[in-house]
Amino acid sequence: MRISVPREVKPEEARVGLTPAVVTALTGRGHEVLVERGAGEGSGFDDAAYETAGARMVSVDDAWNNADMVVKVKEPIAQEYGYLREDLTLFTYLHLAASRDLTEALLTSGTTGIAYETVRVGRTLPLLRPMSEIAGRLSIGAATRYMLHHEGGPGILMGRVPGVVPPVVLVIGGGTVGEHAARAAVGLGADVTVLDASGDRIRELDLMLPGARILMSDPHRIEEELPKADVVVGAVLIPGAAAPKLVRREHLKLLKPHALLVDVAVDQGGCFETTRPTSYDDATYYVDGIRHYCVANMPGAVPVTATQALTNATMPYVLKLAGGIEQALVSDPGLAEGLSTFQGVLRSPGVAATFPDLP
Ligand code: NAD
Repeated sequence: MRISVPREVKPEEARVGLTPAVVTALTGRGHEVLVERGAGEGSGFDDAAYETAGARMVSVDDAWNNADMVVKVKEPIAQEYGYLREDLTLFTYLHLAASRDLTEALLTSGTTGIAYETVRVGRTLPLLRPMSEIAGRLSIGAATRYMLHHEGGPGILMGRVPGVVPPVVLVIGGGTVGEHAARAAVGLGADVTVLDASGDRIRELDLMLPGARILMSDPHRIEEELPKADVVVGAVLIPGAAAPKLVRREHLKLLKPHALLVDVAVDQGGCFETTRPTSYDDATYYVDGIRHYCVANMPGAVPVTATQALTNATMPYVLKLAGGIEQALVSDPGLAEGLSTFQGVLRSPGVAATFPDLP
């Protein structure tokens, strides 16, 4: 198979879909790999490293037009829609429930879209997990920064010092993002509460995080906890579907005036009603005086770590798909759960529920 890796084009996105190590594994199995010139630079891989691994360095047009399968990181943006076509398989994060335009572009072009974020192994989402681990850690990094006085924050240290009341962090959604946000916040000495809607997950977190309060999420509990928080991290996921709006606009008046809302779930539309996607060059905005941080590609800030973590997880699937798309999907039902669009038809139930009028 001919596999290609275009350079990421979203603002501030320097991750890359394949490392030279994965290219070596592919070329060693007889596959051809095309890499857009400069694609790996931001992740610490120069063109020479890819060439040594057996890849051919090409232009953006060649990377998109001459491959059977394109492996990327982020979902295509409008300037890339023209490259979509029926005989192309696209393996990347898609987050279709958050973008009707992209969903329509994939359907009208007939592209086979396989979304990293819905590939499953049992209850886990192995291709979302590494980025969620990183985003969870970074959410507390963002809180640390935007609590600083010279960053326009209230001047609160995101940590515990003797004799001073520690900051209060409320994490809504205790999956991978929520667990890692809570670990980071507990590590700093913050007063941490995690809300989740799954009894099994609450029991797991309770064992894992003795330094945090782990509580069942419901609308009343959320209303009770919001007024206490200095930082609220949104980390809820209903796989493949738009995030439920658990913090509504009228809730903003319950918050402390300096509270920071960090919606990590922004890529699925966000779990706060007032969320809108931001990027690192203009990361925060205010609604009713409350500061929001909603960067949609948080791991893009740490591309060296994130590319390594992502490709560690994607590599076995890339090798499997390279051996034949149909065979890979039939032999691995968990991988088949990633199939989002095929021959102009939506195959993801969550996305189909979000856009019931699309085929
Ligand atoms: P996950 O599936 O591991 O966890 C989601 C959790 O939400 C689950 O534990 C689930 O029980 C819980 N949940 C569901 N409904 C709830 C409710 N009503 N109240 C409280 N909890 C509820 O998902 P994850 O990997 O942690 O990802 C969370 C979100 O973060 C996803 O939308 C993901 O795409 C996003 N994400 C964003 C970035 C970014 O850069 N912004 C990076 C990585 C992940």
